[in-house]
Parts: sequence; C-alpha cells; structure tokens
Amino acid sequence: MRTQIAIVGAGPAGLLLGALLHRAGIDNVVLEQRSAEYVLGRIRAGVLEQVAVDLLREAGIAERLDAQGLPHDGFEMAFGERRLRIDLHALTGRRVVVYGQTEVTRDLMDHRHQTGLGTVYEAEDVQPHGFDGGRPYLSYRHGGTGHRLDADFLIGCDGFHGVCRASVPPGALQTFEKIYPFGWLGLLAETPPVSPELIYGHTERGFTLASMRSHQRSRYYLQCSLDDTVAQWSDDAFWAELRRRLPAAAAAQLVTGPSIEKSIAPLRSFVAEPMRFGRLFLAGDAAHIVPPTGAKGLNLAASDVGLLARALAEFYGGSTAGIDHYSQRALARVWKAERFSWWFTSLMHRFPDTGGFGLRMQQAEFDYLCGSVAAQTVLAENYVGLPLG
Ligand SMILES: Cc1cc2nc3c(=O)[nH]c(=O)nc-3n(C[C@H](O)[C@H](O)[C@H](O)COP(=O)(O)OP(=O)(O)OC[C@H]3O[C@@H](n4cnc5c(N)ncnc54)[C@H](O)[C@@H]3O)c2cc1C
Repeated sequence: MRTQIAIVGAGPAGLLLGALLHRAGIDNVVLEQRSAEYVLGRIRAGVLEQVAVDLLREAGIAERLDAQGLPHDGFEMAFGERRLRIDLHALTGRRVVVYGQTEVTRDLMDHRHQTGLGTVYEAEDVQPHGFDGGRPYLSYRHGGTGHRLDADFLIGCDGFHGVCRASVPPGALQTFEKIYPFGWLGLLAETPPVSPELIYGHTERGFTLASMRSHQRSRYYLQCSLDDTVAQWSDDAFWAELRRRLPAAAAAQLVTGPSIEKSIAPLRSFVAEPMRFGRLFLAGDAAHIVPPTGAKGLNLAASDVGLLARALAEFYGGSTAGIDHYSQRALARVWKAERFSWWFTSLMHRFPDTGGFGLRMQQAEFDYLCGSVAAQTVLAENYVGLPLG
C-alpha cells in the first residue's frame, strides 16, 4: 500500500491530522493498535481551547461540537472557602468549550469513515522504517498477515507509550521529565454538575476539581496517593471525600449517583526534543505530556497537528519551510503550556514537602491573584490557550 502521509495512532492527534490533511487534498492512512470501540471507551480530557475548536471547524467537523459543546466564559478557584472567579472572557475576549475527548474522537472517526479515508484498527507490531532516508515506510501485521505501508512521511501520533519516539536513535533525542508525587482519581457520573463552571479547589486534604461533560454528566477528580487503587475507592468513599474538599456552598449542591467510570492517572511533565527526525514527525502525547491541571494535553495535540498539517500542505505546494520549522514552532508553544501546567499544578496541590513555607507561598500567590487583574489576565490567557503562531 502507498499513501502520502502514514499516521500511527487514532487518538485525537492522528485523527485530526488526517482530517486536516484530507481537507488540504493530501492522502493519508492511519494505523491504530486498538479497536475503534476501545479508543472510544477511554475517558480523558474535556476542555477545548479556541485553537482546537477552530481547527475542528477548519476540518469541517464541528457541527456536533457547535450544537452540544458548552461554552465557558470563566472558571473558579477555591482555597478552602475563599473563591475567586477567573472571568476568561472579560480578561481575554476568549472562552473555552467543554466537550469530551470521547465526543471529539467519535466525530473524527465518523468523518473518517464517511470520507473513506484508510484506517486500520487492531494493527499489530507497527514499526517505522527508513525515515532517515528518502523511502520511509511502516510495517505491521493485521489479521495474521504482514503488511507494508509506504509514504512520503511518517507521523507518530501514538501517545506517550507509542513506538515512533521509541524508534528514534537515543542519541538523536533529548528528554525532560518531572514526575509528580501524587495522582488524580477521576469519577464520571450521570449527575448534574455541582456548579455551571469548573471549580479548581486547594484544600488541606489535597486538590479537587469539579468538572463536567454536559449539563447531565459530571466529572470529578481528587488528588490521591500514587499507592491508591481504584478498588480501594468505593463510590460512597469518593463522594464523601469530594464533599469534604468542595467549598461548603458547592458541596451543598452536590448530586451523587453511581459512577460510570473511575480511574487513577499519574501526573507527569515530559518533553522530547526535537519533534522531527528526517521523515518522521512526532505530535501530541508522543512528544510531550502535561499534568491535566491546565487542561492542555488534548489542546497541545490539536495545535501540534494544526502546525504540521499546514507545514505538509506547504511541502506539497513546493516549500520545505514549514516542515523545516515544525519542531521549533511546536516546541515553543509546548514549553509555554508545560510551564503553565506545572505552575497551576504547583499552586493547587499539596506536595509531601509543601511544609509551612510552601503553603504560605501558595496562599500568597492566591491572594495576589485575588487582588491583581494583571495576574488574573496572565492566568486567563494561558488557560484559554496561546495563539497557534
Ligand atoms: C487517563 C488519562 C486522563 C487524561 N485526562 C485529561 C484531562 O482531563 N484533560 C486533558 O487536557 N488531558 C487529559 N489527558 C491527556 C489527553 O487525553 C491527551 O493529551 C490526548 O489524548 C493526546 O492525544 P494523542 O492523540 O496525542 O494521544 P492518545 O490519545 O494517547 O492517542 C494515541 C493513540 O496511539 C495508539 N497507539 C499507541 N501505540 C501504538 C502503536 N505501537 N501502534 C499503533 N497505534 C498505537 C493508542 O492506542 C492511541 O489510540 C488524559 C490522559 C490520560 C491517559
């Protein structure tokens, strides 16, 4: 088989890239190791920046997003009972949209299906080859048979544990990592959210986030120990702990119900540099991870592929400038999102070594935010997302 662009991974990065390339008249094939149902079953991100929304619109896949997504003009921070609303729209003129990653993925999958673009689910043992020369290709097995997919370029959209970054010679790659000493226990329930806007809470018992996927579906998180297991947390134990961590007025609005999903995610900051190796490019979680506090993971995946789709369209138009600068441009935006996610995580969580001084620093930072429109603006413009560049 031959295509122009061979993409590894049918997460949001791979599927959105495929849609943007299709829009630009560039043929592409996606190889995904899991089944479509498995990919759709993963409960992950839920807050879209304007850049991600614009890219989905550009790809012609925003009909359901525009009809069902919930525009949010602000969010709340709470330090115990002290609450601060960050008015994103007043401070930046922009807003974010709550629309689950599962829905984004479903829309992208449907579009791919309708446009007849090649997608191979349950592709086994995908391996990139020849990307340091002029004839790159992917080998893989499907239905018990070996296959080869030749392409002009290979794109690794295969997430943090994928094969593409792992195939780069170690000397060609520099990595930067910070592991946080706690995780997030998440619970999804078919219950109305506790508040119309997200609440990020700092408490002496640890961080909490009250989020949502729709007016009827809530997503809540609790900072937990890395040693905790989901089995240890009954629904009742989760709701009781959430009630203790929410500000009292919000806790009074809490509607509980059986969980649809419960999981623990470790928190990590990670960047691999560069994001191009000859004819292999990396995008999304394959190249970088952020802790979810700033809601940047899915959005960075979208902005990477937005830049990459543009660069590849330029290449087929006769200029290599876009692909030559892709890594540098993407990383400039990635590092700013890494900084913001690290800062917001550091401010809102209790670390084992926070201590008296660390706590006073967090409280002083929150006080400063409460009293300074300038500080709130810095927070807001990072939260709604920096321009694509
Ligand atoms: C548990 C969890 C919770 C999260 N919660 C949030 C959140 O609340 N907010 C937020 O902003 N972000 C969150 N994120 C991050 C966000 O979901 C990711 O940043 C986003 O999914 C990145 O998209 P991606 O396409 O780059 O990678 P992925 O979504 O990871 O997609 C990669 C795809 O590649 C496939 N793949 C991997 N290896 C191979 C291979 N060898 N061959 C073929 N296919 C392969 C995988 O099966 C997968 O489908 C969360 C992530 C996780 C893991």
